[in-house]
Amino acid sequence: MITFVADTGGTRIKLALMRDGRILGRESFAARSDDGLAPQLPRIAQGLDSLCAAAQVNRDECTAFAMAFPSLIDSRTGRVLAAYGKYADAPQLDLPQWSRKTLRLPLIIENDARMALLGEWQAGAGRGCDDLVMVTLGTGIGTAALIEGIVVRGRHGQAGVLGGHLTVQQDGRQCTCGNRGCAEAEASTSVLPTLAAQSRDYSASPMRHSPVVDYASVFRLAREGDACAMSLKTRAIDIWSSLIVNLIHAYDPERVIVGGGVMAGEEEFFSELERLVLARAHTPWGRVTIVRSELGDAAALFGGEYLSRVGNA
Ligand SMILES: [Zn+2]
Repeated sequence: MITFVADTGGTRIKLALMRDGRILGRESFAARSDDGLAPQLPRIAQGLDSLCAAAQVNRDECTAFAMAFPSLIDSRTGRVLAAYGKYADAPQLDLPQWSRKTLRLPLIIENDARMALLGEWQAGAGRGCDDLVMVTLGTGIGTAALIEGIVVRGRHGQAGVLGGHLTVQQDGRQCTCGNRGCAEAEASTSVLPTLAAQSRDYSASPMRHSPVVDYASVFRLAREGDACAMSLKTRAIDIWSSLIVNLIHAYDPERVIVGGGVMAGEEEFFSELERLVLARAHTPWGRVTIVRSELGDAAALFGGEYLSRVGNA
């Protein structure tokens, strides 16, 4: 059984053709999520054809389309329930119908962090552990939880995946969800340029002239002693660790997997994050293990392929 998988991120859309937990081929393109999802659908459909051709797979061997999406999803109806400042048109689209008509495939759609959790559980850093929390730090902040081998979903699909919208600053910044002081509004990559510009030391920082302000550049400038970058780094690690402690207290995991674009190639920030989490988390039964994602930006692809094989995990 071959599955076509799309991980619809805020920055890039990743596509893969997969069979039995293996990637047969993959490609990606810029998401342009501000323009909505509808303009990207023809490109996704082309991706199925080009991936089948490259992998020398007959198009008819592909039996399902699995889509990871950065929002709340009603996995029973396949509807996207909300937009958080990206793909604003998605709640109005009938994606199951589009998939049936255009791809001639049934659609399995799920929150992207939940799919990443399933991927890591089956094939990555969560193997052998049935009590997991996943946190993805990137354009947005995604979370998901697995308790005693069962994915936490809740009546409306919200359980476990709204960690990016846990309040971490009581009088904090306005969030796209309507709340104030959410982790995503305080320490995701999408708000970093604004946070930097509002920082006290910004006028003296090289960040002022940088075309891209992301956490990789913040960590690099912090190592070089830039005061603005150092304060942004300290603040971000503080907020991420508060968020992870909240998730540990809520879902009782044995292992927390940290992934997302912020994790790319960073050693020292991760050990500081781990130190703060372990110092703050209340776990009288023992010690939570904090690990990095093993599958990186492919985690949700593996999770999507797994869901297409087992149905609702
Ligand atoms: Zn929020």
